[in-house]
Amino acid sequence: MKLSFETFELRKKYPFTISGYTLLTQSVIYVTIEHEGYTGAGEASPGYYFDETIDDVLAFYASLAPDFAKISDISDRQSIMDFVEKKRPGLTAAKAGIDVALNDLYGKILGKPCYQLFGADPATMPVTSFTIGMDTPDVIRKKVSEATEFKLLKIKLGGENDRGIIEAIRSVSSQPLCVDANQGWTDRQEAIDMIHWLKDQGTTFIEQPMPVAQRDDNAWVTEHSPLPVVADEAVQRLVDVESAKGVYHGINIKMSKCTGMLEGYKMVQKARSLGLKLMIGCMSESSVGILGAAAIAPLCDWVDLDSSWLIANNPYHDPELREGKIILSDAPGLGLRKK
Ligand code: MG
Repeated sequence: MKLSFETFELRKKYPFTISGYTLLTQSVIYVTIEHEGYTGAGEASPGYYFDETIDDVLAFYASLAPDFAKISDISDRQSIMDFVEKKRPGLTAAKAGIDVALNDLYGKILGKPCYQLFGADPATMPVTSFTIGMDTPDVIRKKVSEATEFKLLKIKLGGENDRGIIEAIRSVSSQPLCVDANQGWTDRQEAIDMIHWLKDQGTTFIEQPMPVAQRDDNAWVTEHSPLPVVADEAVQRLVDVESAKGVYHGINIKMSKCTGMLEGYKMVQKARSLGLKLMIGCMSESSVGILGAAAIAPLCDWVDLDSSWLIANNPYHDPELREGKIILSDAPGLGLRKK
């Protein structure tokens, strides 16, 4: 197998502010794996969130390239990912790039779309939410007005003006909402009061209401919440899933957190066995990372795979969207189409 990679700078359509950072661009690394005349594509989107840099990913891929040159059997993708996992701790976004490329390649070799590799039924795909970041009411109203093809809006709260943001949205849209507080609420009673108010405003679920470290407070909010509460920052990998039980109603799976489709699928199975709800989300990724997650998204309750539509220079076509749902391609592999 031949492993190749190159850096690409994604430009955002809107500046993105989170936890005090304002981001205008996001560097990603496109990775390809070639084998038997086929090429699989993956994408690593490392971020401050994971303490993983572009240079870390490039160095890791350079160290893996000679190992991949010796691999001749793709039938056991898990063994390959086990090797990648053992090679270095952490670097979950880098590993996700490898995993997605392997799955795209394997699907192409078998002549099957990736969703079939995971027993996912495209007919059960939930609508995908479209994220409205924190901004001034004028900018928020403009973004919402441009997002009418999406049937669920994801609103970032946890700042100084949560009610003002929702009121700005409600002045131009009656679309259903979900809310990501990004750990921004620190008082549990205020969090619950806000969740009751958000329910009255047409909100359907809440993501990471309070800081991860306030585990008992998150559990208390979940117990008293009239809406489902989902863990994002609190759950990254398969080993973390069990810890969500009794603290959250569900978990948010992301390729960049969990090292890709193989582990993401195991998290789905584990969460279901524990009675947890499932959301699948993304970091700043183009269509490559999004289509990796989308292949297992029909197994989840909520889908937040919007980042390719937030990028001005996506080198690939956006996934097909119909009635707010990503339509999975029947083409072998991810069904990725270069522009
Ligand atoms: Mg989140």
